[in-house]
Amino acid sequence: MVAKLSSIEKKCRDRELKMTEQRRVIARVLSEAKDHPDVEEVHRRAVKVDENISIATVYRTVRLFEDENIIEKHDFGDGRARYEEATDQHHDHLIDVKSGKVIEFVNEEIERLQEEIAKAHGYKLVDHRLELYVVPLEK
Ligand SMILES: [Zn+2]
Repeated sequence: MVAKLSSIEKKCRDRELKMTEQRRVIARVLSEAKDHPDVEEVHRRAVKVDENISIATVYRTVRLFEDENIIEKHDFGDGRARYEEATDQHHDHLIDVKSGKVIEFVNEEIERLQEEIAKAHGYKLVDHRLELYVVPLEK
């Protein structure tokens, strides 16, 4: 059975990382994630594919992918590191502190303002992170 490579597996191949079957499973779990899972959640999803994958293996693999800039680590204020695949498409995050729900957004005006602020201080903006912590509006 030859499964199509996930985008994270492709990036691992491009970087010539040694890929074990367990690493492939973890790579696929992260590639398929539409949310921002923490290590425990990645582990929960990975053991559905291969019950022998240990949490330690998930930790090591996630750290490897992070070091290789294949995935990005986020801290959404609850003390748990969360991960998502690194992409060229930038987005920011809005975090509902009551439910923990994370919404991704892009706002051109914010992007432009940040560049202006950097420029006003004599800098060129190369990267930024923006997290908005919110609660639902009272209805
Ligand atoms: Zn995101």
